Amino acid sequence: MSRQQELDRIAEEIRVCTLCRLSESRTHAVPGEGSPRAAIFCVGEAPGESEDLTGRPFQGRSGREFTRLLSLAGLERDDVFVTGINKCRPPGNRRPRRDEMNICRRAHLDRQLAVISPRLVVLMGGVAVEEMLDIKGLLRDVIGRTVERDGRRYFVTYHPSAAMRFPAIKRVAERHFRRLRARVVG
Ligand code: URA
Repeated sequence: MSRQQELDRIAEEIRVCTLCRLSESRTHAVPGEGSPRAAIFCVGEAPGESEDLTGRPFQGRSGREFTRLLSLAGLERDDVFVTGINKCRPPGNRRPRRDEMNICRRAHLDRQLAVISPRLVVLMGGVAVEEMLDIKGLLRDVIGRTVERDGRRYFVTYHPSAAMRFPAIKRVAERHFRRLRARVVG
């Protein structure tokens, strides 16, 4: 089976997944999308309203901000793979709960990562950092840093929706993505 076929199979499972309570209120699950050969794998939080309606990740305003930040790294959306810790929208955009994050990550995200085997996983925001690095509430300590864990390399930055809302965060996130450019060509 090709990588694309394996990713398609995981995406089909995600679309009908009922492993946690978030499946009860979703319109569409959002498996994620991008290149099966991506060197950079970006992980956000969970779908919002536009993503839930379309079934695609990073739509709307935060999607535009994500695309803009990527361009600072010399990347287009098709160059990377992008998804979230959770594949279903939490009601009212609340923060995903610990069990929801853990169930979804183990069932789906870990498998997507294993298929793509990227050079670098970009963790965008506190939810991604908490679930992937088991670091809670200490985003400040790891932001802008590369962390090795279990043979995988992670780079920590802000979520595009935070960059969109706070000019100081936007400037830092822009610096992070410009720094990524060296990793991409290097
Ligand atoms: N995670 C996010 O943060 N946003 C999306 O659109 C999808 C996953």
